[in-house]
Order: sequence, then C-alpha cells, then structure tokens
Amino acid sequence: MEDFSLDELVRDNIKRLKPYSSARDEYKGVTGDMVFLDANENPFENGVNRYPDPQQRDLKAKICELKGVTEAQILLGNGSDEVLDLIFRAFCEPNKDCIITLPPTYGMYEVLANVNAIGVLKIELDDQFNPKVDEILQSANESTKLLFLCSPNNPTSNSFEAKDIERLISGFKGIVVIDEAYIDFSNAESWISRLVDYPNLIVTQTLSKAYGMAGVRLGICYASNKIISVLNRIKPPYNVNALTQIKSLERLSVPEEVSTEIQRILKQRDWLSLELETISFVTHVYPSDANFILVKVDDANRRYSELIAKGIVVRNRTTQPLCENCLRFTVGSQIENIKLITALKEL
Ligand SMILES: *Cc1c(COP(=O)(O)O)cnc(C)c1O
Repeated sequence: MEDFSLDELVRDNIKRLKPYSSARDEYKGVTGDMVFLDANENPFENGVNRYPDPQQRDLKAKICELKGVTEAQILLGNGSDEVLDLIFRAFCEPNKDCIITLPPTYGMYEVLANVNAIGVLKIELDDQFNPKVDEILQSANESTKLLFLCSPNNPTSNSFEAKDIERLISGFKGIVVIDEAYIDFSNAESWISRLVDYPNLIVTQTLSKAYGMAGVRLGICYASNKIISVLNRIKPPYNVNALTQIKSLERLSVPEEVSTEIQRILKQRDWLSLELETISFVTHVYPSDANFILVKVDDANRRYSELIAKGIVVRNRTTQPLCENCLRFTVGSQIENIKLITALKEL
C-alpha cells in the first residue's frame, strides 16, 4: 500500500474546509471552579444544561483502553449511520463518484449513497454468501471511492474469510469500510488490529447490538490518524450528546456484564437454530455468526403474515437478492424464542 495517497481521495471542498470552532472547542479546560460565560448556556444546573464535550474525551479514553487503539484513531458518531454518512461526505463527490456494495447486505449503504447523490455499483455475493473478489477488484475504477464489507454480514449472518478481506483491502484503490456491527457475536478477529497495516481501511462498530444500547445511538469509527482527522473536520461539533456519553461510559465500564449477555444470546442462538431445523416448512437454516438467524421457508410472505397474526414480528428478506423466501429472526430472550418456536409449530 506504499502508493496510497489519502489526499487524492479527499474531496476538494473538504480539504479547503475551515472547521467550525465551537465554544467548548476553543476553551477545553473545563474544571469545577471556572466561570463559563462563553456558550450562551443557561447557568442553572440540571445535569445537562452545559454543551457536551465535543471530543468525548472520557468516553474515548475508555474505548481506547478496551480496544487497544489511540484516541487519534477513533471518531464517535450518533450511531454508525452518522459515521457512515461522514465517510460519504469526506470521500465521495456528488453526481460523480460511486461506491461498491455486495448485496444482500445492510440497506443503509445504498440509502446514504442516494441521499448524497452517489452512484452504487452492486456486485452480488456468490451462492455461499462470499465476496467475488476478482470481479470486485476488476470493476473498481477511479470513481469507485468506497467499498463496503459487512462482516458478519446482515442479513446473511456469515463472516467473510480473512484472506478475501485481505485481498480486497490490498487490491482496492479507494477506501475499504468494514462494518463490524456484529463482531462481538463472532469468533472472527476484528480488523482494528490491522489498521496500522492498511492506510485505506476504516472499521465501524456500534453499541447498538452486542452492547445492548441501540437507544443511545453510539457508533465508533476506527481508522488511521489521517482519516480520522479528515472526518473530525466535518463532524457536527456536538454530535454525541451528553446523555449518550454518560450511558455509554457506564456500559463500557462493565465489560463482564456485556460478555455474560453475549454468551446467553449465543446459547439461545444455538438452541433456536436446532429448533428451527425441526419446523416442517423450514427448508434451510443458515449458520450464524451474529445475533440473528436467516432461515429459508416454503413461502416467506405467508409465514411472515402468519407470525404477525400471532403477535411476532420478524424481518422478511424475500425481496433481497439470494434471499428468496428468507426470514430473518433476531435471537431474543429465552421466553421470546420459545414463543417463536411454539408459534411456528402451530402454523
Ligand atoms: C444494526 C446495524 C448497524 C447499527 O447501526 P447504528 O446506527 O449504530 O445503530 C450498523 N451496521 C449494520 C450492518 C447493522 O446491521
């Protein structure tokens, strides 16, 4: 990757941008006995009357301690969705550039491309749900700025093989974004340990799934110092609110609670997979490396409606490529999973 030049990939307007400097950016030393009359806040204390730390230093320090990265290698956002949007805005020129996605996959990559007027080149996974590495690399050109790899992939629930991912990162001339929303349910190793090897790599994670904090909206972006400093220039100053910073820090401070929950979910996943195999109209249960199970049934639209009628909402993926008649079941609590299996057996 010696010939990689980040500067050539960053949009010109972003390179020229003078970031907005917020009050709390200009004076950082927030200590108890200072008088803050710089941000037009209401002085009466209620816990959230002050603007949040725009650099989220306490939260970042905790993440760095847990993940073995430096603060200059991370950017936090209002969910992964905001992080992904920042990546589009940094690297993709509207009405000119495009991205590569590998359907069936997470729908937000395409939505964000459409919002930002960026083209989408779709290269379907093969019938084993693995990336067609040669075809992807051959299709790439100077306008394909981003390649999205979701591993473990939603909705197929498999992780891509390390050697395939490695070939893609090495061979792709733009930026490779690995979405690791489900990495904590997988035995596969996170790619954040490889950031030092690949200047064109971005890894995203989230507190929405394994960490049980979908409601707080915290997305984490890991990349080289250079990429992070580009993204920092365009992020809204107070993009991670005070409540999110507090709740996230609390949760990250009890990692043993998080891992206990993950273990319980994995145990339920294995049980659910075995039970699903016994349902008469289930034709295939795909192996899962995440907290959901993709299942092929005789008639997905019919089974989806029948489950709704029994008060159980699942995700119908039948319109997705390679997912004809597939339903996606999130692994719930033991009670919820028993309800699902009982309902399926009654159909
Ligand atoms: C759920 C999910 C996310 C999470 O997005 P947030 O905005 O952080 O909640 C990201 N990527 C994939 C593939 C997901 O399935």
